[in-house]
Order: sequence, then structure tokens, then C-alpha cells
Amino acid sequence: MDKLVYFFAKGQADGSASMKDLLGGKGANLAEMTAIGIPVPPGFTISTRACNLYFEGKRQMPDGLETEVGKALARLEKVQGKRFGDVADPLLVSVRSGAKFSMPGMMDTILNLGLNDQAVEGLARIAGDRRFALDSYRRFIQMYSGVVLEIDKAVFEHMIAAAKRARRVQDDTGLREADLAKLVAAFKAHVRKATGKPFPQEPQAQLWGAIAAVFRSWDNERARLYRRQYGIPDDLGTAVNVQCMVFGNLGNDCATGVAFTRNPATGENVFFGEYLPNAQGEDVVAGIRTPLAISRAQSGGAGDDSLEAREPRCYAQLLEIRDTLEAHYKDMQDIEFTIERGTLYMLQTRTGKRTGLAALHIAFDFKESGVIDTKTLLSRIEADMLVQLLAPIFDTKEKDRARTQGRVLGRGLPAGPGAASGAIAFTAERAVEMAAKGRPVLLVRAETSPEDLAGMVAAVGILTSRGGMTSHAAVVARGMGKPCVVGAEALRVDVGARRLSAGKRVLKEGEFVSIDGATGEVIEGSLTPHPSEIQQILVEKTLKPERSRLYGRYAQLMRWADDERRLKVRTNADTPHDAEVARAFGAQGIGLCRTEHMFFAEDRIAAVREMILADDLSGRAKALAKLLPMQRKDFIGIFKAMRGLPVTIRLLDPPLHEFLPSTPEQFRKLARQMRVPVRRLEERAQQLHETNPMLGHRGCRLGITYPEVYAMQARAIFEAAARCIASRVDVQPEIMIPLVGAVREFTDLAARIRAVGEAVAARTGVAVPYLLGTMIEVPRACLVAGSIAREAEFFSFGTNDLTQMTYGFSRDDIGKFLPDYLEARILPVDPFQSVDPDGVGRLVRLAVEEGRGARPDLKVGICGEHGGDPASVEFFHRSGLDYVSCSPYRVPVARLAAAHAALREHGDQGSHTA
Ligand code: PEP
Ligand code: MG
Repeated sequence: MDKLVYFFAKGQADGSASMKDLLGGKGANLAEMTAIGIPVPPGFTISTRACNLYFEGKRQMPDGLETEVGKALARLEKVQGKRFGDVADPLLVSVRSGAKFSMPGMMDTILNLGLNDQAVEGLARIAGDRRFALDSYRRFIQMYSGVVLEIDKAVFEHMIAAAKRARRVQDDTGLREADLAKLVAAFKAHVRKATGKPFPQEPQAQLWGAIAAVFRSWDNERARLYRRQYGIPDDLGTAVNVQCMVFGNLGNDCATGVAFTRNPATGENVFFGEYLPNAQGEDVVAGIRTPLAISRAQSGGAGDDSLEAREPRCYAQLLEIRDTLEAHYKDMQDIEFTIERGTLYMLQTRTGKRTGLAALHIAFDFKESGVIDTKTLLSRIEADMLVQLLAPIFDTKEKDRARTQGRVLGRGLPAGPGAASGAIAFTAERAVEMAAKGRPVLLVRAETSPEDLAGMVAAVGILTSRGGMTSHAAVVARGMGKPCVVGAEALRVDVGARRLSAGKRVLKEGEFVSIDGATGEVIEGSLTPHPSEIQQILVEKTLKPERSRLYGRYAQLMRWADDERRLKVRTNADTPHDAEVARAFGAQGIGLCRTEHMFFAEDRIAAVREMILADDLSGRAKALAKLLPMQRKDFIGIFKAMRGLPVTIRLLDPPLHEFLPSTPEQFRKLARQMRVPVRRLEERAQQLHETNPMLGHRGCRLGITYPEVYAMQARAIFEAAARCIASRVDVQPEIMIPLVGAVREFTDLAARIRAVGEAVAARTGVAVPYLLGTMIEVPRACLVAGSIAREAEFFSFGTNDLTQMTYGFSRDDIGKFLPDYLEARILPVDPFQSVDPDGVGRLVRLAVEEGRGARPDLKVGICGEHGGDPASVEFFHRSGLDYVSCSPYRVPVARLAAAHAALREHGDQGSHTA
């Protein structure tokens, strides 16, 4: 039978950092730290396998677990020289969850387990401090009641608040021994009332209750929501860590803290952390008391209450451990520690979550000091993180103006990058509601908790008045890449009254506030977010590249990514401006130019409508003649912007009714403009009405019924290309026919387009080199890909339509049922965001294989939204595509994702240790 329990103590451990699947991140690293000689309180880890067996066995403890835990506990007693359940000198433990991927605040922790009415007195005698023992006991009852007995935690908080009011103190530390004794009695009475039973006194029963609760917490709603948000599989299970307690609340020479070995927001190579004197575990992260800075530098010289000043010996030891951990793990670490009467213990280390900005700088710093190689550097920066480097910042002048107008409400900690301006929402529910109406929303809370996750997802930014850089709000916002300011203490957030006040200023729900996630400033009113440095250099060209270190590193990163990747990256662009932007971001061509977007422009929609209203060919020809020069001009602009690179132009795709107005008022206005009776417009709209327009008269079907439309577009392309060639601009047009499902659709249209090409060549004397290909977006096209490829020179997968038609999910209506599908885990992710590898993906592979079988040099790309999604990019890489095409701002993301895909394919992600 598999071993279920892994022991660690005094330099020796059954597990190691490589065993995260089995021991969870926390357990694996506790074992590793123990083994490399870092002071860790001894304990044992119950494996994720035990958790999975627990769920498989209908929530029964797996066979053999009791015996193994019993043995581990006996070893622990021996190491510590104390007995679990002894009332005179009790062995106390913490029970903490720890899954493979960290899920901050999602799951449960219980401290001081083993205490009961007698043991608390034993602890009091041993520690020589009854206040401490009572404080530990009340914490235990509180945590155990919330987590295991599932009693509303708020009731306990209210009782503590009442005790503090009665004693006229702000902090828990101001409560006296007698107050705590009363609280313990009140807590126990409440437990009896709520559960009908006394608080469990028997340590073994406490332990098993806690283990089961941690297992169960894997399946709680917020953990499931978090996993869905981050794409973490549901079947991993959590490990349970049982460890000897060390106490950070044994007096003023005690403390507990969390730190990052480098700044997680900026990446700066400075030790960065927070601590609370005389406090226990969760106090720091919970944001209940605002923690103190760990170093003098960080506290900005204000006062001398940094850990460095108060506990210089422990601080020096922490710095040593910081170096040891970074050297060992070769990456920035996020650590937890406790100081018990001057002795330092490490409670956790893990790879620290960081912003995109920090990820870039940290990886470069490690590379430059020779710790990691280029491939490791690449693998350390997630492709999606690049979006944050392009995130907006506020314009300095506008912000200066706001400052002089006295609109700065306060300053908190810069916890998440980027600038955000939004209407205040005081609760997660309100944030979701307001965002659903299309408003930018700023979630403003005293502190956030895991229950606020949905609101954080909906908000453009997050602001809290309490908490530090490691508070829930900060950690989660950084993970999401959202602008976030925490601990803005000058602000008072009154959720009940829906008021945010700063001094005399009062702001209500719905009023605008702006936050700068780089400086921590909170500003009244709205400010316009402004392009990032990278954008200023590449797009606006208002900043010189050599003036930005960030840009230098970004550009180097992109060069290294380009060296690794095989997949080319193109862009979806319909205007010369978008084409230029994409090119600056490294696009290697246009993969999709949707010509209908040109039709919507103000100066041409009239001609398009005239064409639609025309009763006969000659009427349409007249309207198309107006459109021809405009389209030609558009194409010339795009060809010039993309000179030397391929440009795929798709012929008209949407159903025609999309070009007509929809409301009676708009119809009346249009009739006046076009000088036609309203009735005629309405009749035409009636004729164009379709029951399922997405499966209706669109794509190549339009080209078949109105060949003159495609002929005009082809002519515009050929003439534009001919003019460019004449003026020595290198053009590589690729003409693409949408929505083909039958070979004859393609061959009929292709013949006409080729004829147009020949006519233009004869007239201009310039033979334009071009490719003629098709989109593959109808499942049937995948099934007959071989015969299509014999005719078409390239394929471009339109995975938006292909997903729609493969699943039979309307891309416009999926929002109505997708949340239920995700909640019920019927779908793991939105298939319109990340390609479905088993169904849609299988069709893609089939089409590639058959297409290349028929035409070995068939060029194959993808231009659906999936082209900018890292997981999909990896899938397309593995499927042997030539390129992906995505929106201009996703181009850097796709470049890096393509490099990751290549590195992973070769199993080569550089040299890691952990
Ligand atoms: C597609 O279907 O994936 C595609 C790119 O075309 P559109 O989104 O314009 O239908
Ligand atoms: Mg399509």
C-alpha cells in the first residue's frame, strides 16, 4: 500500500521539493527546507493521495491512515519530548492545508490544536504566561469552530470587538488575561449553543476533525472558483501539514511575518516583508492589524519599529536564510516565519507570486548573475504577464494637476501594477452588477477576503484601506495582473453606509476614484490611463528606447523568444494603424484582414447600403463602383504598412442585414438620408431577415449569390498590389475565401478571382504574385480538407466559427449558459477562449494532416481569437501549424507562448532545481 504520511524533523525528511504532486507545495518545501538545514518546526505531511482516497471513499478516512498518523505523532512526541494530549506540558500542533499550486486564502488552517480546558493551564505554567495561553486557546476555538464545526466566524469577531470596546483598546494585544478568560468561556458557550454539543476536548478527536476539514476545504466553493479562474485541475487534492506549534504571540520578543526575498511588485533586489510583533500566524495575512515593515529601508526610516531594528539578530539570520533559499531554489521566494522568544523558525517557502514587471526584472537579474540560463529565464515569464508590461499608467501632468487640486485622498501600498479609474463598488456583488452594465468598477473594501473573488474579477482595480503587500487583496490582484492599492490608511471604508471618506471628503458608491498601482496613490475622480513605456516607445514613439530599462529587457526577452519559437505570429488587423502597431509588436504579417470592418466606416456605409438596397445587378454595380476606390486605398495603406510581409485579406463574410439599422428611428433617419421610402428599407430588411444568421447567408455563400461583390474586392486587392509593386513596395497578398464547406464553393469563386487577377494584370502590365486560400471554419471543411487543399494554396482556421459549429454553441448566446457549464464542470474552460483540444482540436489536426497529404507545401495558420491564448498557441504548435494570428496587443504574448511551446516540446525549460 502507498505510504500516506511523510515525516520531517531535525535535518531529515521523507519528502523533498520535487514531490509537490504528493505533498503539496507547502509540504514538499517544508521537507526540502528541513533537509537543507533551515530551522523548521518538525512535523509530518499527509499526502494528496490520502485526500483523494478520502473523496473516493465517500468521505471516509482511507485505510491505514490512522496507523500512519499515530506513528508519525509518536515520532513527533519523541523529537519534542512532549506528549500530544498531555495536560501538564502539551504537544500542540498546527494543521494546515497545502495543495500542489498555492491557492492563497482559499483553504483552511488551524493553530494551537491539542489545547483544552486543562492543557491551557499546563501551557500557562510552562510558558509562565497565562494571558498567552488563554489567547492561544481562544484562537484555537475560533479557528476550529469556523473551519471544522462550520460556525459563522463573524460571531467570534463580534465578541472580540465587544471585549476591545469594553477595555477601550484598538488591538487584540490590549486585551488582558481576564478578558481572554471571559472570551474563552463565551466562545465555548456559543459553540454549545450553535452545535448542541460542548467544544471538543479530546485532542485526538480534534486532530481528526481538523484533518477531515482540511480535506473537505479542497472542495469548498471558493476553492473551486479559484481553481476555475486559474485553470487548476479539480482532481489534485490537498495535502495536510501537521507541525509542532511555535509561538509568535508569547510576548514582545516574539513575532510572526511574511516576506518576499525580492520586491514582488517591482522585482527590485531588496528583502521585502512585513511582520507583527506578538502575533500569531494568520494575523499578518488576514489584514486585521496593519503589519510593520521588515527592514529599515522599507519602513522609510520612519520610527524604529522595523524587525531589523527590533530583532537585529533574527533579522540577520533571516537575511542569511534569504540567500540560502534563493541560491537553493534559484528563484524569488515567498516565506513565512515565526520568532518565538528570540528563536527564528521558518514555516513556509514557495516560489513567490509576482507582477509581470517583477517577473521580467527578477528573471533578468538572476540570469545576469549567472544563476539561471536563457531558457530558464524564458520559462519564468508567463506569456500572459506581458499584458501587464503593456498596462496603462497615468499621465504625469494629469496626475500633477490632480495633486495640486488636492484630489489625492491618500496613499497606500502599490500592490498590483497599472493605473485604473472606476466607479466605487463597496461589495463584490455590487461590483459584479455594476460591471455587468458596462461600467469600469473599482472594488473598494477595508480588506478583501476570498468571498470577494467574483468582485475582484469584475473590477478594473482594487483598493483597500487595510492590509499589507501580502494581504489577500494584494496577492490575488497581482495574480490577476490587476491594478491594486492596499493599506491606504488615510481612508475610511464604511461598507454599511456605502461611504468612502478621507478626512472631510466623502465619496459615495458609483462616484469615481483612481488608483496608481505603481505609486500607491488614491485620487478622487477619474484620470485617463495612459500608455505604458513600451507602448510609448513602440506605438506612440514619444520615448526613446535607450531611456527605458524596462523596454531594453522586454526587447531582449522577445529576441530570445524568437530564437526559440518555430511558430510564426501574425496579426488580425483591418487598418494601416493597427497593422503598424502589430508590426511594432513583432507581427510577421497579417493573418486576417476582415474587409467588412472597412465597410462600416462612415464614408462608405452609405455605398454599402446602396448596394444592399439595389434591386438588380446594375444597381449593385453602381454602388460597388463607389466602393472600389475606397477599398483599393485601404489595401494600399495596409500593404505599405506591412511591406515585405504577407497580408491575408478575407473577402466579405457577415450576413448583409448587419449593415442595416435595427431600430425604427434609425430606419427613418436612413430613409431620409438615402431619400427612399421607409417602407422600402423595411421590406429589404424583412427579406434579409434570417432565423439563424450565423448559419445563414454569409461567407462564401454571399460570394456565390453576388459574385460582383467578391469581384470588386478582388479587383481592389489586385489593383492596390499592382500600384504598390509599381512603386517598389514588396507586397505578398493572400486572398482568403471564408466559410467554405464544399470544394465547389471554393473552385467556383477561385476561378472568378483568378480571372479578375488576369484582367488586372493585362490592364496594368503588372502580374501580382498572390496566394489563394480558404478559411477552415465549417466542420465539413475539415472532413474534406484533402480535396479542398488540392485547390487552395493555404488554410487558415477560423476557430471562432469552427468552435461554434463543432459544439453547436452560438458564439453570441453562449454567455447565457456558459456560467452554469463552468460551475457544473461540464466544460473546463470557455471553448471560445481556449481551444477545445479533443473536439475542435481533433478536427484541426485531421484537416492539417489531410491538407498536407494533398499539398505538402500547404501553408496553415489560425486566425480565430484562440491565436492569442497561450494554451491554444501551444496546441497549434504541436499540431504543426505555420502561424497563429491574433490582435495586435496579444502579439508579444503569442511570441512568448510560441517559445514556451517549443521549449516544452523539447522538454527543455532550462535548469531548475525545484
Ligand atoms: C473565425 O471564425 O474564427 C474568424 C476568424 O472569423 P470571424 O470571427 O470573423 O467569424
Ligand atoms: Mg469566421
